[in-house]
Amino acid sequence: MHKLCWPLFGLALVAACGQAPDPYWVDFTVRPNDQGVEIVADVHGGPTTAWVGFGVGPGTPPELVDQIEAMAAYSAAGEVLEVTAVGRGGYQIETNGEPWKLSYRLSLRAGAEDPSFYRASTRGKDYLVLVGSDAWARFYSDPTPLTRPPEARPPGPVSGATARFELPGPDSEWRVVSTAWEEAANTFAMRQHPVGSVFALGPFETIQLPEAAGLRIARHRDWNIMPEQVDEMVDDLMMSHREMLAPPDNIRALALLSPLPESLSPRSGLRTAGMVRGQTLVVYASKAPLVPANHPDIAEAMAVFLGHELFHLWVPTSVQVTRELSWLSEGWAMHMGRYAAVATGWLDEAAGTRRLALSYRRYLDIGGYRAGSLPAASTGHESQRNLLYLRGELVFRLLEREWHQANPDRPFERALWDALASAYDGVEPLDSAAVRTILTGLVDATTVRRYVEGQAPLTPDAIGLAGQ
Ligand SMILES: [Zn+2]
Repeated sequence: MHKLCWPLFGLALVAACGQAPDPYWVDFTVRPNDQGVEIVADVHGGPTTAWVGFGVGPGTPPELVDQIEAMAAYSAAGEVLEVTAVGRGGYQIETNGEPWKLSYRLSLRAGAEDPSFYRASTRGKDYLVLVGSDAWARFYSDPTPLTRPPEARPPGPVSGATARFELPGPDSEWRVVSTAWEEAANTFAMRQHPVGSVFALGPFETIQLPEAAGLRIARHRDWNIMPEQVDEMVDDLMMSHREMLAPPDNIRALALLSPLPESLSPRSGLRTAGMVRGQTLVVYASKAPLVPANHPDIAEAMAVFLGHELFHLWVPTSVQVTRELSWLSEGWAMHMGRYAAVATGWLDEAAGTRRLALSYRRYLDIGGYRAGSLPAASTGHESQRNLLYLRGELVFRLLEREWHQANPDRPFERALWDALASAYDGVEPLDSAAVRTILTGLVDATTVRRYVEGQAPLTPDAIGLAGQ
């Protein structure tokens, strides 16, 4: 009898230890104020000792977690729970095992004072953009994620969340726009932690595009670049990408169009900034005050820029890639932005080639003659990003030309998209080795070694710009 019991007992113990921890369920209530937002989270589930941490999105400085203030926790009966700080932007909370409340403030600098404002949760004069990776507390069952830096923290075991917004005043023009499911007025539901979400609060007008079903535009009241034409332009560019690449899996997408804060507006020409989180494109653009809203140069530049940002719904949203493939997602986005602008007639072909020749000159000016591996450069210093994107675009031009000579009837872009989409399993981001195999199959190993791995410099001849 003894002999039988011991192994059984051992088995039961192993099963108990191997059980997944009870996941959290979190209902966030958000109240915007003059400095940012106050957030209260009603927390259910999770272990008795909860570990809470804040993180930042890709490319965002880790210091953003220091914007979290007045962290406090309460039991359902309103008693104060003990909160101990752990590492940077991390906390340990003893919860009694009952549902509990977490409250904190996200204090945001105005966009104008924050050089990286458009890449993160941000506050303008009259709008707020809350990016899930920065704004929402993450909940953990053990302290391990808090030992990682804010940019490397996982979302945590959250099985569902809602975000409810209490907007200022009944007469406010503000509304909340998001790709999340709106289950009641200003209340959004998500099946996981809202780490990939974006919520924009402000005087936004929402437009459903006629052709590109599923894509909505939310335009800020003060957006002043081609105000009568920008919707049509986005619609055209999106349809061009869909024809070239086949529709992406994600049908619900949102393009947020906001002006840059005044102090960041350019003194001449146009300034643009874009960010993609999940299925939301956050787009900022401003023109110099003297430039007419529909000047042809503005239209051309906007078409290329918006074509680039919209392409990110394919890569890296529908097909995810590792960081050493940022040359691919950005270089291809540059290439596709120009391609779609020409294909839709917003940029004429000669102007497209002129822009490419300018890119090549700029690439040389900022040190592009030095060859080097694109995957290695992708993980390199932030200051090299411009060079990387320019070079990525030129390499795509070259790959397209090589492919076209052997396959005049099938576009390279479609062949590459099909190959990436079939190699991607929907979970594990594609890495450099996988893409190397795909590119070698489409062009040849020598081309990949020379130009992707940087064994040869890009010459005007190689990219078909001789004589430009
Ligand atoms: Zn991009």
